[in-house]
Amino acid sequence: MIRMTNVSKEYPNGVTAIKDLSVTIDAGEFAYIVGPSGAGKSTFIKMLYHQLKATSGEIEVAGFDLVNMKDREVPYLRRKVGVVFQDFKLLPRLTVFENVAYAMEVIEAEPEVIQKRVLEVLELVGLKAKNDRFPNELSGGEQQRVAVARAIVNYPEVLIADEPTGNLDPETSEGIMDILEAINNKETIVLMATHNRQMVNERTHRVLAIEDGRLVRDEKEGEYGYED
Ligand code: ADP
Ligand code: ADP
Repeated sequence: MIRMTNVSKEYPNGVTAIKDLSVTIDAGEFAYIVGPSGAGKSTFIKMLYHQLKATSGEIEVAGFDLVNMKDREVPYLRRKVGVVFQDFKLLPRLTVFENVAYAMEVIEAEPEVIQKRVLEVLELVGLKAKNDRFPNELSGGEQQRVAVARAIVNYPEVLIADEPTGNLDPETSEGIMDILEAINNKETIVLMATHNRQMVNERTHRVLAIEDGRLVRDEKEGEYGYED
């Protein structure tokens, strides 16, 4: 579960990017985060995996209290929260297999467990046959599927995707969405910030709209609602 209560975030330069925002997202939900550029979507998302600390308010994610979290607890949070970025962020010198395995090595999983689980998630994203390739040998869509595999390999409770289809063509984006929805069907919360109007309107899920740091819309089967 994700619960934000009266959360605000002020950057050191005085910009208040999130203003008194409260929202609850339950297990099994799929929610889009929409809103104009500069509205605060990235700030909102980064607070959920403790990349940024809230200035005030309370944040609970997967049973962790993020406000009072000690630095040494952050790795435990990161096991429960997988993140996918617009620009993939794969490690270029590691193979597909190694990129995904790395996320399990840092939590000190057993080698046999890693071997089995990595191939399992690569199969889920359709890349088992390319497990020994390097990222630069893959298309953008394939690289994003590796990033998704890496984000889910440790069975997270929450999968956060910040513009995951932003660099992909429409057809490839549909493939990524298929995977995110399949992951969501296994009870994982999927939270996806996006400017992909067509996707939001066609594959309807909960929509949270942020404007000027505030939650201005929260719809169960929402629409994108912007013209960009
Ligand atoms: P979005 O993801 O919706 O485009 P952001 O969360 O990136 O919005 O930005 C929200 C506001 O916070 C904007 O006014 C932006 O300029 C500001 N902002 C974002 N990051 C920083 C930062 N590191 N320091 C200062 N201001 C920032
Ligand atoms: P920083 O040194 O900037 O605090 P972090 O240690 O938080 O960086 O994260 C290191 C890298 O891993 C960054 O690129 C960050 O965006 C990414 N990252 C952070 N959390 C996760 C996660 N749960 N899953 C995947 N990648 C993550």
